[in-house]
Amino acid sequence: MHEMSIALSIVEAVEAKAREEGAGSISGIDLVIGKLAGIEPQSLKFCFSAAAKGTLAEEALLQVEEPEGMGECGECGRMFPVSFYYAECPDCRSLRVKIVSGEEFLIQSITIEE
Ligand SMILES: [Zn+2]
Repeated sequence: MHEMSIALSIVEAVEAKAREEGAGSISGIDLVIGKLAGIEPQSLKFCFSAAAKGTLAEEALLQVEEPEGMGECGECGRMFPVSFYYAECPDCRSLRVKIVSGEEFLIQSITIEE
């Protein structure tokens, strides 16, 4: 399962960071998952609670921010929201659309406890 391997790598990353800071536990993790990132936040949260068992992140609360996808038309330059990769420009119907946001996936911050 795709989300499970992502959950495991998040746990690994935040634990490494928490140890570096000498933290006793992690109480919160803020993630940014763009709507086009191909990651299902609900499924990720579910996998995360399994992946975090017995780690410093076991009690961590996962907060997910989901920026909308935005595309830019390669013909007329219009910016518009997109929900799929193969978007069409609403103005000129061009398919030369460049995805400018919505593919983000990152750990924004973590909250650690002593
Ligand atoms: Zn266009």
